[in-house]
Amino acid sequence: MSIQTINPTTNEVVMSFDEMTDSTVNTAVAQAASAYNDWRKTSFAHRAQLLHKVADLMRAKKEQLAKLITLEMGKLLSQAEGEIVLSADIIDYYADHGAKFLADKRLSPKYGEAFIRYSPIGVLLGVEPWNFPFYQVARFAAPNIMIGNTVLVKHASNVPQCALAIEDLFKEAEAPAGLYTNLFISGKRASALVSDVRIKGVSLTGSEAAGASLAAEAGKHLKKSVLELGGSDAFIILEDADIDKTVEWAVVGRMNNNGECCVAAKRFIAVEAIADEFIKKFTDKLSKLKVGDPMDPATELGPLCNEAAAVQIADQVSRSVSAGARLLLGGKRVNRKGAFMEPTILTDLHPGIPAYHEELFGPVASFYRVKDEQAAIDLANDSDFGLGGSVFTGDVERGRRVADQIDTGMVFINHPTWTQADLPFGGTKGSGYGRELSELGIDEFVNKKLIRTS
Ligand code: NAP
Repeated sequence: MSIQTINPTTNEVVMSFDEMTDSTVNTAVAQAASAYNDWRKTSFAHRAQLLHKVADLMRAKKEQLAKLITLEMGKLLSQAEGEIVLSADIIDYYADHGAKFLADKRLSPKYGEAFIRYSPIGVLLGVEPWNFPFYQVARFAAPNIMIGNTVLVKHASNVPQCALAIEDLFKEAEAPAGLYTNLFISGKRASALVSDVRIKGVSLTGSEAAGASLAAEAGKHLKKSVLELGGSDAFIILEDADIDKTVEWAVVGRMNNNGECCVAAKRFIAVEAIADEFIKKFTDKLSKLKVGDPMDPATELGPLCNEAAAVQIADQVSRSVSAGARLLLGGKRVNRKGAFMEPTILTDLHPGIPAYHEELFGPVASFYRVKDEQAAIDLANDSDFGLGGSVFTGDVERGRRVADQIDTGMVFINHPTWTQADLPFGGTKGSGYGRELSELGIDEFVNKKLIRTS
């Protein structure tokens, strides 16, 4: 396998790294286990102080870190800066609220006195994706370090400089050796590492295939796992929606992060009465997006994360068209070097067509026209995924009723699915299980220990 920075804007190899040997990995796991023995005994205040230091350093280096993100995976520079701020906010959030979330909980049993003590469980392995290289790590590492666990992170192979930069922030903040460790290993070796007795839990954000592989190992060795996997979120447009605002959000919902968000709006489902107006305005906006270098502030759509991703999405579009889908916009690679794909809209989709079932991880929207609200809900639920979704309507109560009937982990009304430190994030069905962020996100890798006195 190769661990490399390849600039997706040019497809040029910028830097290569060696995979760690088994012996180096073994030393890293031993160090994480030894660090745990000390870290678990530290106070919440001590842990919070370290996390605040990391967050401050992250903010202070915002421009430099954002450029690394854009270089390695092609996100627009302004969005990369936003990711750094969001990641620092998440780290601060757990530093500020962790002690409260983890405070002893008194119980009122019929006999005796009892309380729940939230204890750490040990060394955790996080397997992270490239699409938000800082944010994904922040939402795994910060709550767990606050709990008293120590973390090993196997980051995606195409963002090695981001992976090292995060580890460096912890070093610069004077974290004890072994508290946060970057592992340069393949996914296969990460899965194999789960059997190591010193590792007590695993968390993966990524594809279903990777999640299934890691969770199978975790199951075999009776270890807790959290999986944040893919999605194919519905974006429902009801006839009473404010159409212009809805179209603005539709563009953001699909094209944010060059279309490479697990919670991107991927399936646009409009009821008949508003479908024509929506699709006309949506197509018009997407057709005008300025495609180009993500470092250029004028660019509105950058490349995909690498050439393989661009080839894959172009193939999904072409297989879908061959199976009967109709192109309303785009459909081809952009005629320039780099991993670019045109903004694309597919329609006339039905079961059996690849784009009806598969996640489209890039600037490709699927458009559906349905009879009414119930048909929109039924179509939204006809997916193996269950991550997020949104409903656009002039009647918020109606939006809540519709949200209640959508089988996903998150539904937003009059906004694309979004994320912030104090809102839980996660899915159901093929999108995984467990939650990250908010109070729920600090609840996954803890031993909720009962302590009872007579
Ligand atoms: P991916 O191939 O699954 O990669 C994600 C991570 O898993 C990488 O670190 C990868 O390492 C590792 N990996 C790959 N195969 C593995 C295996 N068999 N065992 C253990 N680890 C393995 O995912 P991707 O295609 O790069 O990322 C996009 C996917 O992630 C999409 O489906 C997206 O929706 C999902 N995602 C979900 C969320 C969420 O919160 N639900 C957030 C972001 C992304 P290598 O890079 O070395 O292969």
